[in-house]
Amino acid sequence: MRWYAVKACDDAPSWSSVNHDSIDPAVLDLVSAAFARARSALFITGAGISADSGLPTYRGIGGLYEDAGTEEGLPIEHALSGEMLRDRPEVCWKYIHQIERACRGATCNRAHEVLAMLEQRYDRAWVLTQNVDGLHRRAGSKNVIEIHGDVYKLACTRCSFRESVQDYAALSFPPRCPECSAIVRPEVVLFGEMLPRSAVATLERELGLGFDLVVSIGTTSVFPYIAAPVMLARRAGRDTVEINPGTTGVSHVVAHRMPNRAAVALDAIWQRL
Ligand SMILES: [Zn+2]
Repeated sequence: MRWYAVKACDDAPSWSSVNHDSIDPAVLDLVSAAFARARSALFITGAGISADSGLPTYRGIGGLYEDAGTEEGLPIEHALSGEMLRDRPEVCWKYIHQIERACRGATCNRAHEVLAMLEQRYDRAWVLTQNVDGLHRRAGSKNVIEIHGDVYKLACTRCSFRESVQDYAALSFPPRCPECSAIVRPEVVLFGEMLPRSAVATLERELGLGFDLVVSIGTTSVFPYIAAPVMLARRAGRDTVEINPGTTGVSHVVAHRMPNRAAVALDAIWQRL
């Protein structure tokens, strides 16, 4: 096997003390063997991978408020919708800002770091993430499909102005475009909106090429486009793994299940490669 130097997360803590006691050694053997023989891999991630960075495990972008209404008495799906951004941007932005505040200061963890290292190990590896926290890129992953966008990328709703920000500390709400004064929005998928076309095109292209290994990590797989790559891989007889403490929409599909936290499981697998 080959080792590669990667730029780890600047602010990652030391992971030398990750405790693997909770892992079933027989399952770890099988999963590590699947990781070792693969030449290409797709890692599908959700809130569970960012939970090890202290972020709340929310469902989609609005799950932060799961089952709760907003102060305005609106369902969160309505407050965080494309329609609300258009009609009452100050309300929509209030909740976008809450999501950003939850992400702010979060650092990538051992799970993000291992996925970045795996990208260099394989001939072809991609991360398909539902997270909008940007942590995969900060950990060094380059092939990342951010299917729900990135809360730190902003774009004008009228002109071509775009910018990336570190956080929202310097913004006034709702933020306005410095070029044309129209409302600026984050490049995230709000409720009722389509998935970004370029992300979908990349995903379709890569799924068309196929993957030897598909791993679902920390996601409940409620969205069809998140569950489908796992189903496709299983049907094609490829290796499939799920890493999630709870059971999910793909638990019955995968060949191997590790009911562990992402950072613990991925660190243990990495140690075996
Ligand atoms: Zn503009």
